[in-house]
Amino acid sequence: PVNRMDKVQEARLRLPILAEEQQVMETINENPIVIIAGATGSGKTTQLPQFLYEAGYAQHKIIGVTEPRRVAAIAMSKRVAHEMNLSEREVSYLIRFEGNVSPATRIKFMTDGVLMKEIESDFLLNKYSVIILDEAHERSIYTDILVGLLSRIVPLRHKRGSPLKLIIMSATLRVTDFTENTRLFKQPPPLINVECRQFPVTIHFQKRTPDDYVAEAYRKALKIHNQLPEGGILIFVTGQQEVNQLVRKLRRTFPCRPTDQNGDRDHDSDTVKHNEAKENMQKESAEDLKELELEFDMKRVIRNIRKSKKKFLAQMSLPKINLDDYKLPGDDTEADMHDQGDSDPNWDDEEGAFSADDQNDDDVLGGAEVSSMPSGPKQPLWVLPLYSLLSSEKQNRIFQPVPEGCRLCVVSTNVAETSLTIPHIKYVVDCGRQKTRLYDKLTGVSAFVVTYTSKASAEQRAGRAGRISAGHCYRLYSSSVYEHQFMEFGMPDIQQKPVDDLMLQMRTMGIDRPPEQRLTILGALQATPNDAKDFPPAVTPLGKVISRFPVAPRFGKMLALSHQQDLLPYTVCLVAALSVQELLQETGVQRTEDVAPKANKFHEKRLRWAAGGNFQLLGDPMVLLRAVGAAEYAGSRAQLPEFCVNNGLRQKAISEVRKLRVQLTNEINLNVSGVELSVDPQLKPPSDSQARLLRQILLAGMGDRVARKVPLAEIADKEERRRLKYAYNCADMVDPAFLHASSVLKQKTPEWIIYQEAYELRNDDSEKMFLRGITAIEPEWLLLYVPL
Ligand code: ADP
Ligand code: MG
Repeated sequence: PVNRMDKVQEARLRLPILAEEQQVMETINENPIVIIAGATGSGKTTQLPQFLYEAGYAQHKIIGVTEPRRVAAIAMSKRVAHEMNLSEREVSYLIRFEGNVSPATRIKFMTDGVLMKEIESDFLLNKYSVIILDEAHERSIYTDILVGLLSRIVPLRHKRGSPLKLIIMSATLRVTDFTENTRLFKQPPPLINVECRQFPVTIHFQKRTPDDYVAEAYRKALKIHNQLPEGGILIFVTGQQEVNQLVRKLRRTFPCRPTDQNGDRDHDSDTVKHNEAKENMQKESAEDLKELELEFDMKRVIRNIRKSKKKFLAQMSLPKINLDDYKLPGDDTEADMHDQGDSDPNWDDEEGAFSADDQNDDDVLGGAEVSSMPSGPKQPLWVLPLYSLLSSEKQNRIFQPVPEGCRLCVVSTNVAETSLTIPHIKYVVDCGRQKTRLYDKLTGVSAFVVTYTSKASAEQRAGRAGRISAGHCYRLYSSSVYEHQFMEFGMPDIQQKPVDDLMLQMRTMGIDRPPEQRLTILGALQATPNDAKDFPPAVTPLGKVISRFPVAPRFGKMLALSHQQDLLPYTVCLVAALSVQELLQETGVQRTEDVAPKANKFHEKRLRWAAGGNFQLLGDPMVLLRAVGAAEYAGSRAQLPEFCVNNGLRQKAISEVRKLRVQLTNEINLNVSGVELSVDPQLKPPSDSQARLLRQILLAGMGDRVARKVPLAEIADKEERRRLKYAYNCADMVDPAFLHASSVLKQKTPEWIIYQEAYELRNDDSEKMFLRGITAIEPEWLLLYVPL
C-alpha cells in the first residue's frame, strides 16, 4: 500500500494516464511486451512505475526504468519517491558514476547506458521484474539495441519460469518501425494510446529566418513578456552555452530578485562581468561537450579507451594500423582523409547583438491577444535555465512555485521537448535548431553542428504550450524553411553516431546478424538507410580495393590494410594459408577426437614451432605462418613430401598455398606501384611489433568473429566452473564455444580472442561448439579495428 499525501494524490488524479490505470495494468498482466504512447505530460514516466509497484511487481524483484537522459533519470526518481512517500533508498537512480541505489531499492531509474552494462554482466536481467524503456521515440543510440536485446531476453525469461515484462513508452506513435519489426517481435505487441487533453496551440512563423536565433529569441521573449497575458514562456535553444547566455541577458533586462535565492545571479562591476563571461564561455563550451558525452555514457568510456590506447602507443612508440588507410600506395584516388574541428559557433555577448530596439520586420506577436497588463521592462521575469548538466537542485526549480508577481520563463535545450514536463507553459519560443554531434569516421573526431530540428520535434516543442490552456508557439523561422528544410522525423541517433562498439557488444552478447550484412560490417558496402532498402548498396572505396584480391572479402581487407608497416609479405602468406582448407592434418582428420590431442604426434611439434616464435602474440595463425615458411624452405631443398609427412601437413594444401601466394604477390606487384614483393622462401618470422600489428589486421578482417572468455569468477558452482574453463561467448551463438585443444593459446585462455572457425562436434549424446585458429586481442582494439 502506498501512502500518498493528499496534494500529490489530487495532482495525480488530474493526469490523463490515471484514467487508464486499469486498462494499462490488465494489458501488462496479460502480455509480455506492451507499448504505451501518450503525449508529454500525460503522466507516463511518473505514474507507470507506481502502477506496477501497486500491482506487486516490486515485491520480489525490481522495477527498472531507463531514460535516455541523466536529467530525467535523476529528476524522475526523486519525483516518484516524493509522490509515493518513499525514501530515495527505495526509489533510486543510477547513472554512470553516480546514484543512490541501495539493497532496499524497489524502483530504479537509470540511463539506458547503465542497463546496457548490466545486460553485459547479467544477460537475463534477473533482478528485474519489469523493464520500462522510456522515451523510446527518441531512438537514442541505445534504444534500438535495448529493444533488440530485450526482445530476446523476454522469451528467455519466460522459458525459465520467471517472466520479465517489457514496457516501451513513447511520446509519439513513432515506434512502430521496431514494434512492427517481425525480426524483433513475432507479433506486434499491443499498443495503448493515452489520450491527453491538449489545448489548441497557434503557430506563428517568422517571415524571415534569422541566423542569430539567440538574439531573436531574446527579442521575442521581450515582446511576449511586455505585451501578452500571463502564462509561462518556454524557449528552446540548442545548448547549455546558449541557455546561459540567454538567461543572463533576460535576467539583466528583467531583474527579479524578490528573495534572491539564486547564487548564480551576481552581476558586479562591468569588468568582472566581462571576464566572467569570457571564462564562462570557455568553461561552458567544454561543458557543452561533456553534456552530450554524459548523455551517452558509453561514448565517454570509449573515448577514454581511445585516449589510453593513444598514450599506450606513444609510450611504446609502436606503429599502429590505420584502419582507414586502405588505399594502395601510389594510388591517390581512393580514401581522402580530412580533418574536422569542433565547430562550436562563436557567441557574441555584445549588448548590440541583443539590442531590444533592433526592429525585425515581422516582429509581431501574431494573433495572441495583447495584454492589458502594465507593460514595461521592469515587470519581473523568473528566468530559469534547463539543460542536462545542470545540478539537480537547480533543475528542480522549474517545478517549484514561481515567486509572487513574476512570470516563469524557462530557457532550455531540447531536454524540455519530452524528457521533463515543465508546468504552466503557455508560450513556446522555438529556435528550430538543435545541436547534433556528427562523428567523422575517418578522423575519429566528433564535431557539433547546429542543424534544423525535424517537423516532429517542432510539433513536440509547440505542444508544450497547450497544456494548461490555449497557447502560442513562436517559431523563429519561416514556414518555407519549415516546409522545405525540416526533415519529417529526426534521424535516429543510431544513424548519427559511431556504432562500432555497440555492434561489437551485440555480437559478443550473442545478437545475431544476417550474413548478407557482413560486407557492410567489413566496410565493403555502404550501409543502406531504411528508406533505400530496394536499391543495391554501393561499393565503398575500401570495397573496391578489397575486390581486387581473389580471396574472401575479409582476407581482401587484411591485404588492403597491410601495405602499412611492411606487413605485406606476412599478410600474403597468412591469407594464403588461411584461404586453403586444412593445411594442418589434425584439424581435418582428427576433428572428431578433440578430446585426445595428446595422441596427436604432430601437436606438440607444432606447439614447439609456435613457441619458437612469439606465439603468444599471434596465436594459432603463427603456427600456420611457420608451417608454410618451414614447408617452403623444405621445398626449396626438394624435401617437401618428407617434411609434410613428418609434420602432419597436407602436401596438396602446401602447394595450393604456394600458388596463392604467388598469385597474390603478382596481383599486388601489378596494382601497387612502388612495391616489389617476392615470394620469399625464407621469410623470417615477424618481429614482436609486427606480430602485434598482424593481430590488429586479423581483427580488422575478423571483427565478426570476436569471442570473450566466460567470466569464471562469476560462476559459483565448482562443477560448472570446471566445465566452462575453456569456454567463450561468441557472436551469434547462444551457448558458449570451447577452445579447441590444438590451440597454442589453450593454456593461456586470453580474455578476448578472434577465431577463424567455429564448428560443431557431435558425440553420441551431446554436441559442442569448438573454436579454432585463435588469436588474442586487446579489448581496446575492438573499438579501433572492428569497423562500422
Ligand atoms: P510524461 O512522462 O507522460 O511526459 P510525466 O510523468 O513526466 O509525464 O509528468 C506528469 C506530470 O508530473 C507533469 O505535469 C509534470 O509537470 C509533473 N511533474 C513531474 N516531475 C515533477 C516534479 N519534480 N515536481 C512537480 N511536478 C512534476
Ligand atoms: Mg516522460
